[in-house]
Amino acid sequence: MTDVVALLRDALGERVDTTDAARDDARADKSGHRAEGRPLAVVRAASVADVQATLRIASATDTPVVTRGAGTGLAGGANTGTGEIALSMRAMGRILEVRPDDLLAVVEPGILNADLNRALAPSGLWWAPDPASREISTVGGNIATGAGGLLCAKYGVVRDAVLALDVVLADGRLISTGHRSVKGVTGYDLTALMIGSEGTLGVVVGATLKLRRTVPGEARTLTAQFPDVRTAAAGAAAVTAAGIQPAIMELMDAVSLAAAHALLGLPSPTPGATQLTVQTDGTGAAVEQAQVADVLASVGGTVRLATSDAEAEQLWAVRRAMHPAMESLGTTLIEDVSVPRSALPAMFDEIARIEREFDLTIPTVCHAGDGNLHPNFVFSGGEVPESVWRAADAVFRAAIALGGTLTGEHGIGVLKRRWLADELGADQWELQRGIKGVFDPSGILNPGKVFDVQP
Ligand SMILES: Cc1cc2nc3c(=O)[nH]c(=O)nc-3n(C[C@H](O)[C@H](O)[C@H](O)COP(=O)(O)OP(=O)(O)OC[C@H]3O[C@@H](n4cnc5c(N)ncnc54)[C@H](O)[C@@H]3O)c2cc1C
Repeated sequence: MTDVVALLRDALGERVDTTDAARDDARADKSGHRAEGRPLAVVRAASVADVQATLRIASATDTPVVTRGAGTGLAGGANTGTGEIALSMRAMGRILEVRPDDLLAVVEPGILNADLNRALAPSGLWWAPDPASREISTVGGNIATGAGGLLCAKYGVVRDAVLALDVVLADGRLISTGHRSVKGVTGYDLTALMIGSEGTLGVVVGATLKLRRTVPGEARTLTAQFPDVRTAAAGAAAVTAAGIQPAIMELMDAVSLAAAHALLGLPSPTPGATQLTVQTDGTGAAVEQAQVADVLASVGGTVRLATSDAEAEQLWAVRRAMHPAMESLGTTLIEDVSVPRSALPAMFDEIARIEREFDLTIPTVCHAGDGNLHPNFVFSGGEVPESVWRAADAVFRAAIALGGTLTGEHGIGVLKRRWLADELGADQWELQRGIKGVFDPSGILNPGKVFDVQP
């Protein structure tokens, strides 16, 4: 039998890490799932040539390769198991070019989102996608998952912020997709295809990113509390329908809000209260804040304007505390459905129905500006109980029935592949599998992720 590790070592020397600690780390991301067994090795690529060498060896020996950014994914996409190579991109973290005149930057994929933005800030520039994990996730991982964030209703998701990609294919060839110009429609849009492809079509080794100029003016924050989640969701939909575009509009239901307050040691919120936290920005921030306040008060919200940056920061700290607050209650399965914004109240009705039907509490936060909900299932032990999967299944079906989708920003990975065909339909599932086969005929790129064996 071919000694794949020996071949990797010959080609890449000390970049091949076979320590137990490294191989164990590569088994899991932040989804709470782990791959069966440990990978053969972790390759810490430092250059495009390293990635090409790894893929040439992998394709010659039919060895699966799982590309890995920072391993913060929530769908199990980067989990690497027995007989596989984990290909880490973290050491490829350079900014290769910044062009303020063209509003673009060329970067390697392993740079952390927040490090990129810290480096761009002195030039008055930023890359808009802002996953809550921006301090710990890579730009390459953001691209491969098609990440979203709090600001995306106003400033777009990753899909809106990438011009071109350098991609190493399964057999080691390097292609460049897209363009540096604002416009460009030559051939099929393979850049768009790579975004959100979760390491199943190729390895992103370089990205030309579309930048924005820093937004002028002072941001403003307000909260509005509502007696129930449906009214709060209707309030958020009313803001959108009124033609106001907040930078951020986040909803925390009563259980989430109470858990976050408890974690931060803040006084308990009004029992049963759901909270919308809204930020407006730009030169019209104050005017828009007043408009948002009027709309939310008119639908029954109790509005409070933050009067200082410190107060605003504390309000956002409550929202940021949601994830650790859920973790403090038990093991958490964070779900990620998305619906058209006008369907938000109906989706919360569905979640309430599913809570009753399965006798569960499903604390939910929501990027209300774009209709992306994160229902949380909290349980004890390491494995998701089947009853939780059945409730999650009901949540997915409800979102799809409302014109929404299984995943707004976290991806399919291993966690949702059994539902993929439900949303795509058999014909599109086959077509997408066919596309995967064109890029990766031997099926060595992240096998078992996104696609189950059969729909
Ligand atoms: C606390 C917390 C908050 C989060 N908040 C958000 C949020 O607000 N919005 C959001 O969208 N996500 C969020 N996430 C999920 C996660 O951070 C994102 O999915 C992120 O984009 C993953 O980046 P990563 O570098 O960790 O990628 P990884 O987890 O390492 O990989 C994710 C997927 O991308 C593939 N991949 C990684 N790099 C490459 C590459 N260079 N080429 C090809 N494929 C690659 C992997 O194979 C895998 O399938 C959150 C996670 C946590 C833990």
